[in-house]
Amino acid sequence: MSRVAIHTLGCKLNFSESSTIVRQLEDHGFSRVDFADEADIYIINTCSVTDNADKKCRSTVKRVLKQNPEAYIVVIGCYAQLKPKEISNIPGVDMVLGAAEKFNMIAHLHSLKKEDKPLVHTKNIKETQDFVPSFSLGDRTRSFLKVQDGCDYFCSFCTIPLARGKSRNATVGETIEKARKIASKNIKEIVLTGVNIGDFGADDDYEETFYDLLVELDKIPGIERIRISSIEPNLLSNEIIDFVALSDKIVPHFHIPLQSGNDEILVKMRRKYLSALYTDRISRIKQKMPNCCIGVDVIVGFPGESEEHFLSTYQFINALDVSYLHVFPYSERNNTTAKKIPHKVSKADKMDRAERLRILSEKKKRFFYESQMGKLHKVLWEDEKHGDGSMHGFSDNYIRFESPYDSSKVNTIEELPFERINESGLAEAKLPLLNDNIL
Ligand code: SF4
Repeated sequence: MSRVAIHTLGCKLNFSESSTIVRQLEDHGFSRVDFADEADIYIINTCSVTDNADKKCRSTVKRVLKQNPEAYIVVIGCYAQLKPKEISNIPGVDMVLGAAEKFNMIAHLHSLKKEDKPLVHTKNIKETQDFVPSFSLGDRTRSFLKVQDGCDYFCSFCTIPLARGKSRNATVGETIEKARKIASKNIKEIVLTGVNIGDFGADDDYEETFYDLLVELDKIPGIERIRISSIEPNLLSNEIIDFVALSDKIVPHFHIPLQSGNDEILVKMRRKYLSALYTDRISRIKQKMPNCCIGVDVIVGFPGESEEHFLSTYQFINALDVSYLHVFPYSERNNTTAKKIPHKVSKADKMDRAERLRILSEKKKRFFYESQMGKLHKVLWEDEKHGDGSMHGFSDNYIRFESPYDSSKVNTIEELPFERINESGLAEAKLPLLNDNIL
């Protein structure tokens, strides 16, 4: 019983944790195989942000059972912490491990056996206080470094604090040590991940802040780029923005959850800011870094969101100098206060609003790309050959470039002029590369 495969659903944080768990297993004699291959143990690292994520877990279990009906199946992650009983009723699951227990995988695997009911090891999330550092290696040219876990905010629609516990982190010194390890592996870019990374150091016992962490990360030799994955607008201080603007390593790219552009809805969501603060943050960023890429998360169809509320969000975002949107139709979760808010929005209206914002996102992205054409960009080429023989890479400000695959370019940073947008909507450096159709 030594071949293990892991499948990760959800966010970058899950990817960093999966990678760390697999390295622990390899250190104890397990060999990692691809999830599509025959393994003795399949681990599914779940997400529970949307209903869809729950369904994905179920379908993954079914797929694994077809692949190898004799294999053991272990389910970990947010869904496992939130709904262990529900998972233990999925036929074929042998073990469910909660938020703390997943990092004790070796000990738990030794007790694996085929029973009528799976073994469930979870504890109350309030007892989950440890911070377990993680980072991903091997799968990508970038490494996801977990710098923080948990959240103390309790937005009314969100179950993540119930799945991951209170906000916590390692010290700056300990985090830097992990970043140095990544630097020693010839990785060019570190992506800082967590649940609410701007809250780094919020614990009363800490004097250190997320800003302090950035200052120290910026000094590490060997790492060429550091990307902040996502940060709450109220935690994105002038100090941080100004530091990023002056840094050669921390790239000009922010992803800033907005969720709604309407103040009435923001209050119902229990977000910690109003729309004016968000506008102020975007203005500051663009003033300091005119070429900065800014991504925005938005939820449509939150309970009580009328067409007028939605239109005010649409107009608010339309007026913002942002580069792309991630749009999520509201998904009702158990044990959230939003569930109790009346005036639910119909599925059809949610889908319609999501579609309108997705079209706006395309326009924003196109506008941003056009504003960057004719400029030189430093592109980090990734190690994946696409079906059409192309490879992709990102500029520091998150423009996706495309080029014919060339293995010698993988994990190198090339300075290129952005000359055209191809028919896939990707940036190209020279004419003609993959096709001749100029949009
Ligand atoms: S900030 Fe809000 S949405 Fe984000 S993890 Fe915390 S509670 Fe959830």
